[in-house]
Amino acid sequence: MDRERLRSLISDEREKFAREHPRSRSLFEAASRNLLAGVPMSWMAKWPGGNPIFAADASGARITDVDGITYVDLCLGDTGAMAGHAPEATAAAVTGRYRRGATMMLPTEDSIWVAGELEQRFGLPLWQLTLSATDANRFAIRFARQITGRQKILVFSRCYHGTVDEAFIVVGPDGRPVSREGNVGPPVDPAETSAVVEFNDADALERVLRKEEIACVMTEPALTNIGIVLPHPGFHEALRELTQATGTLLLIDETHTFSAGPGGYTAAHGLEPDLLTIGKAIAGGVPAGAFGMSHEVAERVITQSDADYEDVGGVGGTLAGNALSAAAIRATLEDVLTSDAFERMIELAGRFSAGVQWTIDRHELPWHVVQLGARAEYAFLPEPPANGGEAAAGADPDLDEYLHLFLLNRGVLITPFHNMALISPCTEPADVDRHTEVFSEACARLVAT
Ligand code: PMP
Repeated sequence: MDRERLRSLISDEREKFAREHPRSRSLFEAASRNLLAGVPMSWMAKWPGGNPIFAADASGARITDVDGITYVDLCLGDTGAMAGHAPEATAAAVTGRYRRGATMMLPTEDSIWVAGELEQRFGLPLWQLTLSATDANRFAIRFARQITGRQKILVFSRCYHGTVDEAFIVVGPDGRPVSREGNVGPPVDPAETSAVVEFNDADALERVLRKEEIACVMTEPALTNIGIVLPHPGFHEALRELTQATGTLLLIDETHTFSAGPGGYTAAHGLEPDLLTIGKAIAGGVPAGAFGMSHEVAERVITQSDADYEDVGGVGGTLAGNALSAAAIRATLEDVLTSDAFERMIELAGRFSAGVQWTIDRHELPWHVVQLGARAEYAFLPEPPANGGEAAAGADPDLDEYLHLFLLNRGVLITPFHNMALISPCTEPADVDRHTEVFSEACARLVAT
Protein backbone atom coordinates (compact mmCIF):
# COMPACT_ATOMS: atom_id res chain seq x y z
CA MET A 1 0.00 0.00 0.00
CA ASP A 2 1.40 3.36 -1.05
CA ARG A 3 0.74 5.38 2.13
CA GLU A 4 1.65 8.69 0.57
CA ARG A 5 -0.83 8.13 -2.20
CA LEU A 6 -3.46 7.17 0.38
CA ARG A 7 -2.85 10.39 2.33
CA SER A 8 -3.17 12.48 -0.80
CA LEU A 9 -6.42 10.71 -1.78
CA ILE A 10 -7.81 11.35 1.72
CA SER A 11 -6.91 15.01 1.46
CA ASP A 12 -8.74 15.28 -1.93
CA GLU A 13 -11.81 13.65 -0.39
CA ARG A 14 -11.76 15.96 2.65
CA GLU A 15 -11.71 18.98 0.34
CA LYS A 16 -14.59 17.62 -1.71
CA PHE A 17 -16.53 16.94 1.48
CA ALA A 18 -15.95 20.47 2.80
CA ARG A 19 -17.01 22.01 -0.54
CA GLU A 20 -20.22 20.04 -0.77
CA HIS A 21 -21.43 20.22 2.83
CA PRO A 22 -21.37 23.89 3.89
CA ARG A 23 -24.66 23.74 5.79
CA SER A 24 -23.63 20.64 7.77
CA ARG A 25 -20.40 22.44 8.60
CA SER A 26 -22.14 25.56 9.86
CA LEU A 27 -24.60 23.52 11.92
CA PHE A 28 -21.68 21.61 13.38
CA GLU A 29 -20.03 24.88 14.37
CA ALA A 30 -23.27 26.12 15.94
CA ALA A 31 -23.71 22.76 17.70
CA SER A 32 -20.24 22.96 19.21
CA ARG A 33 -21.37 25.77 21.51
CA ASN A 34 -23.63 23.57 23.61
CA LEU A 35 -23.07 20.01 22.50
CA LEU A 36 -19.91 18.28 23.61
CA ALA A 37 -17.82 17.62 20.49
CA GLY A 38 -20.61 19.25 18.44
CA VAL A 39 -22.85 16.19 18.50
CA PRO A 40 -25.70 14.95 20.73
CA MET A 41 -23.84 11.67 21.31
CA SER A 42 -20.07 11.48 21.08
CA TRP A 43 -20.25 8.43 18.77
CA MET A 44 -21.59 10.67 16.01
CA ALA A 45 -18.21 12.37 15.86
CA LYS A 46 -16.86 9.16 14.33
CA TRP A 47 -18.14 9.97 10.82
CA PRO A 48 -15.39 10.86 8.34
CA GLY A 49 -14.85 14.34 6.92
CA GLY A 50 -14.13 16.29 10.12
CA ASN A 51 -17.80 16.72 11.03
CA PRO A 52 -20.86 14.58 10.57
CA ILE A 53 -23.39 15.45 7.92
CA PHE A 54 -26.55 16.71 9.59
CA ALA A 55 -29.58 14.69 8.59
CA ALA A 56 -32.78 16.30 7.38
CA ASP A 57 -34.98 13.35 6.42
CA ALA A 58 -34.81 9.61 6.09
CA SER A 59 -37.19 7.27 4.39
CA GLY A 60 -36.79 3.63 3.38
CA ALA A 61 -33.13 3.09 2.49
CA ARG A 62 -32.39 6.78 1.85
CA ILE A 63 -31.17 9.71 3.94
CA THR A 64 -31.23 13.35 2.79
CA ASP A 65 -28.90 15.77 4.53
CA VAL A 66 -29.28 19.49 5.23
CA ASP A 67 -27.25 20.33 2.11
CA GLY A 68 -29.93 18.59 0.04
CA ILE A 69 -27.82 15.54 -0.84
CA THR A 70 -29.56 12.16 -0.83
CA TYR A 71 -27.65 9.02 0.09
CA VAL A 72 -28.12 5.30 -0.31
CA ASP A 73 -28.05 4.31 3.36
CA LEU A 74 -26.20 1.06 4.01
CA CYS A 75 -25.44 2.14 7.59
CA LEU A 76 -29.07 2.08 8.67
CA GLY A 77 -28.32 3.63 12.03
CA ASP A 78 -25.74 0.88 12.70
CA THR A 79 -28.64 -1.62 12.67
CA GLY A 80 -31.16 0.53 14.54
CA ALA A 81 -32.90 1.15 11.22
CA MET A 82 -32.49 -2.30 9.68
CA ALA A 83 -36.26 -2.24 9.07
CA GLY A 84 -35.68 0.83 6.85
CA HIS A 85 -36.40 4.41 7.89
CA ALA A 86 -39.98 5.12 8.92
CA PRO A 87 -41.54 1.91 7.60
CA GLU A 88 -45.23 2.54 7.00
CA ALA A 89 -46.61 -0.06 9.42
CA THR A 90 -44.41 1.08 12.31
CA ALA A 91 -45.08 4.75 11.59
CA ALA A 92 -48.83 4.15 11.71
CA ALA A 93 -48.66 2.06 14.89
CA VAL A 94 -46.43 4.55 16.68
CA THR A 95 -48.52 7.57 15.72
CA GLY A 96 -51.71 5.82 16.77
CA ARG A 97 -50.29 4.55 20.04
CA TYR A 98 -48.76 7.89 21.04
CA ARG A 99 -52.17 9.56 20.81
CA ARG A 100 -53.53 6.93 23.22
CA GLY A 101 -50.68 7.17 25.71
CA ALA A 102 -47.00 6.41 25.37
CA THR A 103 -45.90 5.41 28.85
CA MET A 104 -48.10 4.58 31.80
CA MET A 105 -46.17 2.16 34.02
CA LEU A 106 -48.84 -0.31 32.92
CA PRO A 107 -48.63 -3.23 30.50
CA THR A 108 -50.50 -3.06 27.20
CA GLU A 109 -51.87 -5.89 25.11
CA ASP A 110 -49.14 -5.41 22.51
CA SER A 111 -46.55 -6.69 24.97
CA ILE A 112 -48.31 -10.08 25.04
CA TRP A 113 -48.18 -10.34 21.27
CA VAL A 114 -44.55 -9.24 21.26
CA ALA A 115 -43.42 -11.85 23.81
CA GLY A 116 -45.29 -14.58 21.92
CA GLU A 117 -43.67 -13.53 18.67
CA LEU A 118 -40.21 -13.44 20.27
CA GLU A 119 -40.78 -16.99 21.51
CA GLN A 120 -41.82 -18.09 18.00
CA ARG A 121 -38.73 -16.52 16.52
CA PHE A 122 -36.01 -17.21 19.09
CA GLY A 123 -37.34 -20.21 20.98
CA LEU A 124 -37.16 -18.86 24.53
CA PRO A 125 -40.51 -18.72 26.32
CA LEU A 126 -40.29 -15.83 28.82
CA TRP A 127 -39.40 -12.22 28.07
CA GLN A 128 -38.81 -8.78 29.53
CA LEU A 129 -38.72 -5.56 27.56
CA THR A 130 -36.07 -2.88 27.96
CA LEU A 131 -35.16 0.38 26.23
CA SER A 132 -31.94 -0.79 24.63
CA ALA A 133 -29.80 -3.81 23.93
CA THR A 134 -27.29 -2.54 26.49
CA ASP A 135 -29.98 -2.63 29.18
CA ALA A 136 -31.09 -6.08 28.08
CA ASN A 137 -27.52 -7.33 28.51
CA ARG A 138 -27.01 -5.64 31.84
CA PHE A 139 -30.21 -7.07 33.28
CA ALA A 140 -29.60 -10.53 31.87
CA ILE A 141 -26.15 -10.53 33.49
CA ARG A 142 -27.66 -9.51 36.83
CA PHE A 143 -30.15 -12.36 36.56
CA ALA A 144 -27.34 -14.77 35.77
CA ARG A 145 -25.29 -13.65 38.78
CA GLN A 146 -28.26 -13.71 41.08
CA ILE A 147 -29.39 -17.22 40.25
CA THR A 148 -25.99 -18.90 39.95
CA GLY A 149 -24.49 -17.15 42.97
CA ARG A 150 -21.33 -16.64 40.87
CA GLN A 151 -19.70 -13.24 40.43
CA LYS A 152 -17.85 -13.38 37.13
CA ILE A 153 -18.98 -13.52 33.54
CA LEU A 154 -16.96 -14.61 30.51
CA VAL A 155 -16.76 -12.73 27.22
CA PHE A 156 -14.74 -13.14 24.04
CA SER A 157 -11.92 -10.75 23.31
CA ARG A 158 -12.92 -7.69 21.21
CA CYS A 159 -16.60 -8.32 21.74
CA TYR A 160 -19.05 -5.45 22.02
CA HIS A 161 -22.36 -5.65 23.87
CA GLY A 162 -23.16 -2.00 24.51
CA THR A 163 -21.84 0.02 27.42
CA VAL A 164 -21.72 -3.01 29.68
CA ASP A 165 -18.81 -2.61 32.12
CA GLU A 166 -18.08 -6.32 32.33
CA ALA A 167 -17.43 -6.60 28.60
CA PHE A 168 -14.57 -4.09 28.31
CA ILE A 169 -11.86 -6.65 28.72
CA VAL A 170 -9.51 -8.14 26.14
CA VAL A 171 -6.81 -10.77 25.95
CA GLY A 172 -3.63 -8.72 26.45
CA PRO A 173 -0.37 -9.12 24.52
CA ASP A 174 0.96 -11.64 27.07
CA GLY A 175 -2.31 -13.60 27.04
CA ARG A 176 -3.57 -12.15 30.31
CA PRO A 177 -6.90 -10.30 30.59
CA VAL A 178 -6.59 -6.51 30.57
CA SER A 179 -8.99 -3.58 30.47
CA ARG A 180 -9.77 -2.62 26.88
CA GLU A 181 -7.78 0.44 25.73
CA GLY A 182 -9.74 3.66 26.13
CA ASN A 183 -12.16 2.19 28.71
CA VAL A 184 -13.78 5.31 30.21
CA GLY A 185 -13.93 5.38 34.01
CA PRO A 186 -14.38 1.67 34.73
CA PRO A 187 -15.93 1.14 38.20
CA VAL A 188 -13.39 -1.58 38.95
CA ASP A 189 -10.69 -3.37 36.97
CA PRO A 190 -12.76 -5.55 34.60
CA ALA A 191 -10.46 -8.48 35.43
CA GLU A 192 -12.31 -8.54 38.77
CA THR A 193 -15.69 -9.01 37.12
CA SER A 194 -14.88 -10.90 33.97
CA ALA A 195 -12.86 -13.59 32.30
CA VAL A 196 -11.94 -13.34 28.64
CA VAL A 197 -10.72 -15.77 26.01
CA GLU A 198 -10.48 -15.64 22.23
CA PHE A 199 -13.51 -16.58 20.15
CA ASN A 200 -13.34 -20.04 18.54
CA ASP A 201 -10.91 -21.25 21.24
CA ALA A 202 -12.83 -24.08 22.91
CA ASP A 203 -9.78 -25.24 24.88
CA ALA A 204 -9.24 -21.86 26.52
CA LEU A 205 -12.96 -21.66 27.21
CA GLU A 206 -12.92 -25.07 28.87
CA ARG A 207 -9.96 -24.15 31.09
CA VAL A 208 -11.87 -21.17 32.50
CA LEU A 209 -15.30 -22.78 32.75
CA ARG A 210 -13.99 -25.89 34.53
CA LYS A 211 -13.26 -23.72 37.58
CA GLU A 212 -17.04 -23.33 37.91
CA GLU A 213 -16.79 -19.64 38.81
CA ILE A 214 -18.54 -18.13 35.79
CA ALA A 215 -22.19 -17.06 36.02
CA CYS A 216 -22.67 -16.79 32.29
CA VAL A 217 -20.88 -16.65 28.98
CA MET A 218 -22.13 -13.64 27.04
CA THR A 219 -21.47 -13.71 23.33
CA GLU A 220 -22.76 -12.80 19.94
CA PRO A 221 -23.16 -16.02 17.94
CA ALA A 222 -20.69 -14.51 15.47
CA LEU A 223 -18.64 -11.48 16.47
CA THR A 224 -19.84 -8.46 14.51
CA ASN A 225 -18.14 -5.56 16.20
CA ILE A 226 -14.55 -6.22 15.16
CA GLY A 227 -15.46 -6.96 11.59
CA ILE A 228 -17.37 -10.20 11.30
CA VAL A 229 -15.81 -13.29 12.87
CA LEU A 230 -17.80 -16.42 12.12
CA PRO A 231 -17.81 -19.40 14.50
CA HIS A 232 -15.77 -22.38 13.36
CA PRO A 233 -17.63 -25.66 12.84
CA GLY A 234 -18.26 -27.27 16.22
CA PHE A 235 -17.59 -24.13 18.27
CA HIS A 236 -21.20 -23.53 19.25
CA GLU A 237 -21.66 -27.19 20.14
CA ALA A 238 -18.59 -27.01 22.39
CA LEU A 239 -19.81 -23.76 23.93
CA ARG A 240 -23.21 -25.25 24.75
CA GLU A 241 -21.77 -28.50 26.10
CA LEU A 242 -19.15 -26.77 28.26
CA THR A 243 -21.58 -24.24 29.71
CA GLN A 244 -24.07 -26.98 30.52
CA ALA A 245 -21.45 -29.26 32.07
CA THR A 246 -20.16 -26.49 34.35
CA GLY A 247 -23.44 -24.92 35.52
CA THR A 248 -22.72 -21.81 33.46
CA LEU A 249 -25.56 -19.98 31.73
CA LEU A 250 -25.28 -19.15 28.04
CA LEU A 251 -26.37 -15.65 27.03
CA ILE A 252 -26.59 -15.07 23.28
CA ASP A 253 -26.73 -11.44 22.11
CA GLU A 254 -28.66 -11.26 18.83
CA THR A 255 -28.65 -7.48 18.50
CA HIS A 256 -26.62 -7.54 15.27
CA THR A 257 -26.89 -11.19 14.24
CA PHE A 258 -30.64 -10.71 13.93
CA SER A 259 -29.52 -10.04 10.35
CA ALA A 260 -29.19 -13.83 9.93
CA GLY A 261 -32.95 -14.31 9.65
CA PRO A 262 -36.31 -13.71 11.34
CA GLY A 263 -35.12 -15.62 14.42
CA GLY A 264 -31.53 -14.41 14.20
CA TYR A 265 -28.54 -16.70 14.15
CA THR A 266 -30.09 -18.67 17.01
CA ALA A 267 -33.00 -19.96 14.93
CA ALA A 268 -31.00 -20.21 11.71
CA HIS A 269 -28.44 -22.49 13.40
CA GLY A 270 -30.50 -24.20 16.09
CA LEU A 271 -28.73 -22.65 19.10
CA GLU A 272 -30.24 -23.26 22.53
CA PRO A 273 -29.19 -20.44 24.86
CA ASP A 274 -30.46 -19.95 28.42
CA LEU A 275 -30.76 -16.20 27.92
CA LEU A 276 -31.06 -14.15 24.74
CA THR A 277 -30.84 -10.40 24.25
CA ILE A 278 -31.81 -8.15 21.38
CA GLY A 279 -32.41 -4.47 20.66
CA LYS A 280 -31.77 -1.92 17.93
CA ALA A 281 -33.85 -3.02 14.93
CA ILE A 282 -36.79 -4.74 16.60
CA ALA A 283 -38.88 -1.58 17.03
CA GLY A 284 -38.14 -0.01 13.66
CA GLY A 285 -35.96 2.70 15.21
CA VAL A 286 -38.01 3.40 18.32
CA PRO A 287 -35.90 2.70 21.42
CA ALA A 288 -36.54 -0.87 22.58
CA GLY A 289 -34.73 -4.00 23.64
CA ALA A 290 -35.71 -7.35 25.08
CA PHE A 291 -34.28 -10.31 26.88
CA GLY A 292 -35.65 -13.81 26.90
CA MET A 293 -35.02 -16.77 29.17
CA SER A 294 -35.74 -20.46 29.43
CA HIS A 295 -38.37 -21.88 31.79
CA GLU A 296 -35.57 -23.15 33.98
CA VAL A 297 -33.97 -19.71 34.30
CA ALA A 298 -37.36 -18.11 34.91
CA GLU A 299 -38.13 -20.61 37.66
CA ARG A 300 -34.83 -19.86 39.36
CA VAL A 301 -35.41 -16.11 39.05
CA ILE A 302 -38.87 -16.26 40.57
CA THR A 303 -37.77 -18.30 43.56
CA GLN A 304 -35.14 -15.73 44.60
CA SER A 305 -37.12 -14.29 47.48
CA ASP A 306 -34.35 -11.92 48.62
CA ALA A 307 -33.95 -10.26 45.19
CA ASP A 308 -35.96 -7.11 44.49
CA TYR A 309 -37.07 -7.29 40.88
CA GLU A 310 -39.90 -4.84 41.35
CA ASP A 311 -38.31 -1.70 42.68
CA VAL A 312 -34.74 -0.68 43.34
CA GLY A 313 -32.96 -4.03 42.99
CA GLY A 314 -30.95 -3.03 39.95
CA VAL A 315 -33.08 -4.24 37.04
CA GLY A 316 -35.75 -2.22 35.31
CA GLY A 317 -36.28 1.26 33.96
CA THR A 318 -39.17 3.72 34.17
CA LEU A 319 -39.75 3.73 30.44
CA ALA A 320 -38.87 0.07 29.83
CA GLY A 321 -41.74 -1.95 28.37
CA ASN A 322 -43.61 1.27 27.58
CA ALA A 323 -46.68 1.18 25.36
CA LEU A 324 -45.05 3.05 22.49
CA SER A 325 -42.05 0.72 22.22
CA ALA A 326 -44.27 -2.35 22.49
CA ALA A 327 -46.53 -1.07 19.70
CA ALA A 328 -43.47 -0.31 17.57
CA ILE A 329 -41.98 -3.79 18.11
CA ARG A 330 -45.30 -5.39 17.26
CA ALA A 331 -45.74 -3.51 14.00
CA THR A 332 -42.11 -3.99 12.96
CA LEU A 333 -42.10 -7.74 13.58
CA GLU A 334 -45.61 -8.32 12.27
CA ASP A 335 -45.36 -6.31 9.05
CA VAL A 336 -41.81 -5.22 8.27
CA LEU A 337 -39.06 -7.63 9.33
CA THR A 338 -40.97 -10.67 8.12
CA SER A 339 -39.62 -13.95 6.73
CA ASP A 340 -40.27 -12.74 3.19
CA ALA A 341 -38.41 -9.51 3.87
CA PHE A 342 -35.41 -11.40 5.26
CA GLU A 343 -35.31 -13.59 2.19
CA ARG A 344 -34.97 -10.56 -0.08
CA MET A 345 -32.55 -8.79 2.26
CA ILE A 346 -30.23 -11.80 2.49
CA GLU A 347 -30.24 -12.25 -1.27
CA LEU A 348 -29.27 -8.61 -1.74
CA ALA A 349 -26.50 -8.89 0.85
CA GLY A 350 -25.20 -11.74 -1.32
CA ARG A 351 -25.22 -9.39 -4.28
CA PHE A 352 -23.33 -6.80 -2.19
CA SER A 353 -20.71 -9.36 -1.11
CA ALA A 354 -20.26 -10.61 -4.66
CA GLY A 355 -19.67 -7.02 -5.84
CA VAL A 356 -17.05 -6.47 -3.15
CA GLN A 357 -15.36 -9.81 -3.86
CA TRP A 358 -15.28 -9.00 -7.57
CA THR A 359 -13.54 -5.70 -6.81
CA ILE A 360 -11.07 -7.32 -4.40
CA ASP A 361 -10.19 -9.93 -7.04
CA ARG A 362 -9.98 -7.42 -9.86
CA HIS A 363 -7.47 -5.25 -8.01
CA GLU A 364 -5.76 -8.18 -6.27
CA LEU A 365 -6.30 -6.59 -2.86
CA PRO A 366 -5.29 -8.63 0.23
CA TRP A 367 -8.77 -8.18 1.71
CA HIS A 368 -11.84 -10.33 2.25
CA VAL A 369 -15.58 -9.95 2.66
CA VAL A 370 -17.88 -11.90 4.99
CA GLN A 371 -21.65 -12.10 4.77
CA LEU A 372 -23.91 -12.75 7.74
CA GLY A 373 -27.46 -12.82 6.46
CA ALA A 374 -28.53 -9.30 5.57
CA ARG A 375 -25.19 -7.88 6.72
CA ALA A 376 -21.79 -7.99 5.03
CA GLU A 377 -18.46 -6.51 5.96
CA TYR A 378 -15.07 -6.25 4.30
CA ALA A 379 -11.80 -6.25 6.20
CA PHE A 380 -8.20 -5.52 5.33
CA LEU A 381 -6.91 -9.04 5.92
CA PRO A 382 -6.43 -11.71 3.25
CA GLU A 383 -8.34 -14.40 5.15
CA PRO A 384 -11.30 -14.26 7.54
CA PRO A 385 -9.90 -14.02 11.08
CA ALA A 386 -10.54 -16.77 13.63
CA ASN A 387 -10.98 -14.42 16.57
CA GLY A 388 -11.12 -10.84 17.81
CA GLY A 389 -7.36 -10.56 18.30
CA GLU A 390 -6.66 -11.52 14.70
CA ALA A 391 -9.45 -9.28 13.45
CA ALA A 392 -8.13 -6.29 15.42
CA ALA A 393 -4.75 -6.73 13.73
CA GLY A 394 -6.40 -5.86 10.40
CA ALA A 395 -7.50 -2.40 11.55
CA ASP A 396 -6.43 0.40 9.23
CA PRO A 397 -7.93 3.76 10.25
CA ASP A 398 -6.52 5.56 7.16
CA LEU A 399 -8.06 3.08 4.76
CA ASP A 400 -11.30 3.31 6.72
CA GLU A 401 -11.34 7.08 6.42
CA TYR A 402 -10.57 7.01 2.71
CA LEU A 403 -13.17 4.43 1.76
CA HIS A 404 -15.89 5.84 4.01
CA LEU A 405 -15.35 9.38 2.76
CA PHE A 406 -15.03 8.35 -0.87
CA LEU A 407 -18.33 6.51 -0.63
CA LEU A 408 -20.05 9.32 1.28
CA ASN A 409 -18.85 11.88 -1.27
CA ARG A 410 -20.58 9.82 -3.95
CA GLY A 411 -23.84 9.27 -2.14
CA VAL A 412 -23.30 6.00 -0.28
CA LEU A 413 -23.21 5.72 3.53
CA ILE A 414 -21.67 2.83 5.40
CA THR A 415 -21.41 2.51 9.20
CA PRO A 416 -18.63 4.61 10.71
CA PHE A 417 -17.51 1.85 13.09
CA HIS A 418 -17.44 -0.77 10.40
CA ASN A 419 -16.83 -1.47 6.73
CA MET A 420 -20.29 -2.88 6.89
CA ALA A 421 -23.36 -2.79 4.74
CA LEU A 422 -26.74 -3.68 6.02
CA ILE A 423 -29.69 -4.34 3.77
CA SER A 424 -33.21 -3.21 4.68
CA PRO A 425 -36.49 -4.44 3.23
CA CYS A 426 -36.52 -1.30 1.02
CA THR A 427 -32.95 -1.55 -0.29
CA GLU A 428 -32.92 -2.07 -4.05
CA PRO A 429 -30.48 -3.99 -6.26
CA ALA A 430 -29.53 -0.63 -7.81
CA ASP A 431 -28.47 0.64 -4.35
CA VAL A 432 -26.15 -2.31 -3.91
CA ASP A 433 -24.79 -1.87 -7.42
CA ARG A 434 -24.13 1.79 -6.70
CA HIS A 435 -21.94 0.71 -3.80
CA THR A 436 -20.08 -1.77 -6.01
CA GLU A 437 -19.46 0.90 -8.62
CA VAL A 438 -18.18 3.51 -6.16
CA PHE A 439 -16.19 1.03 -4.07
CA SER A 440 -14.57 -0.24 -7.23
CA GLU A 441 -13.65 3.29 -8.29
CA ALA A 442 -12.16 3.98 -4.83
CA CYS A 443 -10.04 0.83 -5.07
CA ALA A 444 -8.95 1.62 -8.63
CA ARG A 445 -7.63 5.01 -7.49
CA LEU A 446 -5.88 3.38 -4.56
CA VAL A 447 -3.90 0.96 -6.67
CA ALA A 448 -3.41 3.14 -9.79
CA THR A 449 0.23 3.49 -10.78
N1 PMP B 1 -25.09 -5.82 21.53
C1 PMP B 1 -24.42 -5.75 20.37
C2 PMP B 1 -23.98 -7.01 19.72
C3 PMP B 1 -24.16 -4.52 19.78
O1 PMP B 1 -23.49 -4.47 18.64
C4 PMP B 1 -24.59 -3.35 20.43
C5 PMP B 1 -24.33 -1.96 19.86
N2 PMP B 1 -23.50 -1.85 18.79
C6 PMP B 1 -25.28 -3.47 21.62
C7 PMP B 1 -25.51 -4.71 22.15
C8 PMP B 1 -25.79 -2.27 22.35
O2 PMP B 1 -26.80 -1.63 21.67
P1 PMP B 1 -27.30 -0.23 22.21
O3 PMP B 1 -26.12 0.69 22.11
O4 PMP B 1 -28.40 0.12 21.25
O5 PMP B 1 -27.77 -0.42 23.59
